[in-house]
Amino acid sequence: MTAIQHFKYLLVGGGMAADQAAAGIRAVDAQGSIGILSADVDGPYARPALSKKLWVDENFHDEDIDFKTAEKQQAQLFLRTVVTQIDPAAHQVKTSTGQAFSYDKLLLATGAKARTLAGTASQRVVALRSKADYLKIRAFSGQQQTVIVVGDGFIGSEIAAGLAQSNTQVIYVIAGSQLFERKLPTALCQELEQKYTAAGVKFYYQEKAATYQLKGEQVELTLEDGTRLLGDGLVLGLGAEIDYQLAKQAGLHLDKNGVVVDQYLQTSAADVWAAGDIISYPDVILGQTKSEHVKHAIQSGYIAGKNMAGQAAAYTYTPYFYSWVFDISWEALGTVDTSLQLYQEKLTSGQLVYYFDDQGQLQGILSWNAAVDLDHLRNLFRQHPDLKTLQQVLPLKPIK
Ligand SMILES: Cc1cc2nc3c(=O)[nH]c(=O)nc-3n(C[C@H](O)[C@H](O)[C@H](O)COP(=O)(O)OP(=O)(O)OC[C@H]3O[C@@H](n4cnc5c(N)ncnc54)[C@H](O)[C@@H]3O)c2cc1C
Repeated sequence: MTAIQHFKYLLVGGGMAADQAAAGIRAVDAQGSIGILSADVDGPYARPALSKKLWVDENFHDEDIDFKTAEKQQAQLFLRTVVTQIDPAAHQVKTSTGQAFSYDKLLLATGAKARTLAGTASQRVVALRSKADYLKIRAFSGQQQTVIVVGDGFIGSEIAAGLAQSNTQVIYVIAGSQLFERKLPTALCQELEQKYTAAGVKFYYQEKAATYQLKGEQVELTLEDGTRLLGDGLVLGLGAEIDYQLAKQAGLHLDKNGVVVDQYLQTSAADVWAAGDIISYPDVILGQTKSEHVKHAIQSGYIAGKNMAGQAAAYTYTPYFYSWVFDISWEALGTVDTSLQLYQEKLTSGQLVYYFDDQGQLQGILSWNAAVDLDHLRNLFRQHPDLKTLQQVLPLKPIK
């Protein structure tokens, strides 16, 4: 029987939250041993760059995204290590190969997985989530090769833009009749789309991917209406899904948003914290919620790490979503949904869009190409102003 390895701090997952948790631990405890168990083949790295900066900055390379967590935080990193069981009572975890680890304090930060389409696995078909996925896309793009991108979420939209700016012919299949039609006012959808068409992207609107087949060195994608598209590769941006099996098996309390943590990011089990995409947490502005965004992973990871090392820091950061493609950058706070009532505030540069519910309560704010201090927007949100109050102080115009 192999010996059980013990760590004072054991981090399950080796992504954005785990990297920051190790930093949070080290801010408090310079000595305690840290072990990081990660299913990935690479150590923690800056995930957002996989669909953005790596495609548009020729001086920025894949080695530049490496956080060098193990080296910086003197942690021991176990790659290709899939945790399959957590026993909070025994303070032990087991992996798919039967390795066992014990801990004093545990962090669960297993993030999300990219949704994919059923079909034969291939290097030419990628549901983008990891650095290894990015490298596969690199291999079938550039040199005027054709890549089919599916999905009008932020990953699909970013990788379509990145590829179009990297000497690649892009065929872009989206379910809506406009890009981000459920989030953005029509004029902004159009402004965004023009950037894609100017870069040569060919759109297929109101279409969904059904199946794909490998055809020699190419991939044929069949859409639900029977249309067939041929490319040198296929990139799927079909959203992410979270596997809660590990948390369930460990007996952790879950709700509809994920693994429930308190304001200190502690789960229902003693000595087990959680951070990042998988948590359901009490947001000081938005109430009990979840966030599958990078700022949240970073901030919650750091706070969880500090608390694992003995501090009692409350998680008070309200995360926002951000994305940038071509020369457009946007950020969103709260619920940004075009079924709400939308009002616009034009700024000298860019604009803000406010989203109100039927009762005139503010639900979300979008910042579009605007140099706005997000803390200012957070503070505004915190006061839960209604439409009438805001109209007295801001030049808001309804968007039809
Ligand atoms: C291409 C891309 C671009 C993005 N761009 C943006 C952006 O612009 N803005 C934004 O706000 N957000 C963005 N995101 C989302 C953001 O990256 C995530 O919210 C963030 O990475 C979540 O951090 P995490 O640590 O919770 O999970 P992850 O970073 O996904 O890390 C999870 C880790 O757990 C490991 N793991 C999973 N299961 C197990 C297991 N059973 N055992 C061991 N290890 C396991 C995984 O291998 C991985 O290492 C982007 C995501 C992607 C994929």
